[in-house]
Amino acid sequence: MNAYVQRVIENVKAKHASEPEFCQTIEEVLSSLSPVIDKHPEYEKVDLLGRIVEPERMFTFRVVWMDDAGNYHTNTGYRCQFNGAIGPYKGGLRFQKNVYPGIIKFLGFEQIFKNALTGLPIGGGKGGSDFDPYGKSDAEVMRFCQSFMTALYRYIGPDIDVPAGDMGVGGREIGYLFGQYRRLKGVWENGVLTGKGLSYGGSLIRPEATGYGAVYYLQEVLKHENDTIEGKKIAISGYGNVGWGIMKKAAQLGAAVTYFAGPDGYIHDPDGVVTEEKLNFILEMRAKDPMHCKPYADKYGCEFVPGEKCWGVKDVDIYMPAAMQNDVKMESAVKIAESGVKYYIEVANMPTTNDALDYLRKQKHMIVAPSKAVNAGGVGVSALEMAQNSERLVWSAEEVDEQLHRMMENIHRVSAEAAEEYGLGYDLVAGANIAGFKKVATAMFEQGAF
Ligand code: GLU
Repeated sequence: MNAYVQRVIENVKAKHASEPEFCQTIEEVLSSLSPVIDKHPEYEKVDLLGRIVEPERMFTFRVVWMDDAGNYHTNTGYRCQFNGAIGPYKGGLRFQKNVYPGIIKFLGFEQIFKNALTGLPIGGGKGGSDFDPYGKSDAEVMRFCQSFMTALYRYIGPDIDVPAGDMGVGGREIGYLFGQYRRLKGVWENGVLTGKGLSYGGSLIRPEATGYGAVYYLQEVLKHENDTIEGKKIAISGYGNVGWGIMKKAAQLGAAVTYFAGPDGYIHDPDGVVTEEKLNFILEMRAKDPMHCKPYADKYGCEFVPGEKCWGVKDVDIYMPAAMQNDVKMESAVKIAESGVKYYIEVANMPTTNDALDYLRKQKHMIVAPSKAVNAGGVGVSALEMAQNSERLVWSAEEVDEQLHRMMENIHRVSAEAAEEYGLGYDLVAGANIAGFKKVATAMFEQGAF
């Protein structure tokens, strides 16, 4: 490995030892960049890598809210404005009890290259809070969101930083956050948040975009292998917004999600989650109780395996981990490799530990695609939402879907080309890192040192 790359990785690991997720993503991404740094010694001269691993700005804030019984609670809010070289900071907010700086920084760093891959002018950022939305009433969520935005509003804006959703932040939360922003600023800046409701500046297809985009990317991989999506069986983890979008698009294209896993175990539905009724049931089930997917098995009389993940099942063609970070560890990776399944398409942010990812990439019979490319359609359509807002226009669902489709084809193509350029063959993981890096690095280099 290039000595400068190695040094930057070691520095990050020493400095951020208490933030393992951040160290993990830095090591994974930077090690792909070795050949690029070899070719561009000017980047070392300006310490471009040392700069890119340091957020431009990151802050915490106090969020105090009152529960329905009148008790006060205090949480920590975060926003990491990681890299603004190619556009306003852009990235979601995660509300989950395990949120701490290591999570926000890993997500923020992933967002930089992901956003660059969309081909649109958006920088990388992320934020959130250790607030646990589970079991909270509507009114409690509203009060939390209002307090969160009261602390954040002066640091964001359509040309500054545009937050969106992530785990624990969906349409409802974005509505409350937007309402509070508007109340505080007294202006209608509808490009300040994305994932908005359709009645106040949201984009058609945004809720489905991440899942749809993942399936469009998958189609490109299949095309590359002279294969098609018709008749393919898919095993996924997660059945949130993203998993649901995968199920729906797969069904439209003649494929089927036949396994899906939740926090309580996994479901095997050999007929696939393909009907309108089943897709709606998933939505209802999640709204009622996001921690249990067993009701699906009870309703449709299919197998439910409690406490297990579906990694290693043999009667599928494609794996798509779409739940959360570090979902697939070495033990699962070995089962996946042994199952003989060819396609491993990451969807959630960093769903695979570094050792497991290295192991899967070394399997000769497998093709591995990285989440930062596969899930980029979500933030890509967020950028389309910003574009519609600034034009004061609403594009049709067909138009947004068409642009999303083209975006995913493009992301796959530039990733494959970048890997090819550096003699790495069809390495989509390295290719995505290299293609994203090249765009951001060029912008940083041309803008001088800061
Ligand atoms: N949280 C999503 C992501 O991981 C979407 C971010 C956005 O739309 O800004 O990319």
